Amino acid sequence: MTIASALRARLFVEGEILEVERVTPRMRRITIAGEGLAGLRWTPGQHVRLLVDDPFATKTWTKGALRTYSVWRHDPSWEALDLIGYDHGGDAPGATWLRNAHPGRQVAFTRPEGRFVVRQGAPYHLFAGEETASVAFGAMLRDLPAGAAVFGVVEAATPDDHLDLSRELVRVCRNGAPAASSETLVEAVRELDLPDEPGVAYLAGEARTIQALRAHLVGERGWQRRDVRTKPFWTPGKRGLD
Ligand SMILES: Cc1cc2nc3c(=O)[nH]c(=O)nc-3n(C[C@H](O)[C@H](O)[C@H](O)COP(=O)(O)OP(=O)(O)OC[C@H]3O[C@@H](n4cnc5c(N)ncnc54)[C@H](O)[C@@H]3O)c2cc1C
Repeated sequence: MTIASALRARLFVEGEILEVERVTPRMRRITIAGEGLAGLRWTPGQHVRLLVDDPFATKTWTKGALRTYSVWRHDPSWEALDLIGYDHGGDAPGATWLRNAHPGRQVAFTRPEGRFVVRQGAPYHLFAGEETASVAFGAMLRDLPAGAAVFGVVEAATPDDHLDLSRELVRVCRNGAPAASSETLVEAVRELDLPDEPGVAYLAGEARTIQALRAHLVGERGWQRRDVRTKPFWTPGKRGLD
């Protein structure tokens, strides 16, 4: 075993793409399977970092080689997990990897991590974000008890670009506007009829839109910052934002 392959085995879980399914016009669900996935610990909302380039071949470690994706589904008794990637249309490494994903392709990724998970027992849960965020939201919504009060808005490019989620959130469309600094999403959250007392908010997706959403909740609705969980996923001009 070379040093490179020993390091790779230590840092990454190895698997193989079992299935690729187009779940919306721009999103693909990728099922990754392999013995290394048995017993992997995951809390819904957590993500993995996928090796989309070989860092030992290209010498472009981290930012060049790794891209972050939320885990859509994983059952520890099941030697597989599902990711859902959004194809934003550029020729960046993550989007290119997604477009070229096919059954049989070898994959390496870091173990699930992250603190963007639900706060169980909160009076209610508020979700807001666009397509990329809806993957984490899908997993987090399934993690809530059936009786938990849920509110939220998901923004997508068109009505067909919404991912099916287990709980009903308001759906809005950009209609050609950019997802960055999205007024559409902020306005839709502003229009939500929420209980008088704050709950817990989960805001993810484009970084500047998240800032605007948090400013609305804290500045206009009087929420405490500790009740607003944020996770910027991407922003124009930055590569691999994590
Ligand atoms: C914790 C976490 C969880 C994430 N989960 C998911 C997930 O489940 N599914 C998913 O699809 N993405 C997810 N993302 C976002 C994903 O990692 C980024 O979109 C990533 O930048 C894509 O890599 P790339 O190589 O295609 O683009 P990069 O090289 O990273 O970026 C190049 C440029 O592409 C543009 N760009 C990147 N992403 C988008 C986008 N979504 N929309 C429009 N333009 C974009 C920006 O202008 C950026 O400057 C997550 C990110 C984080 C941090």
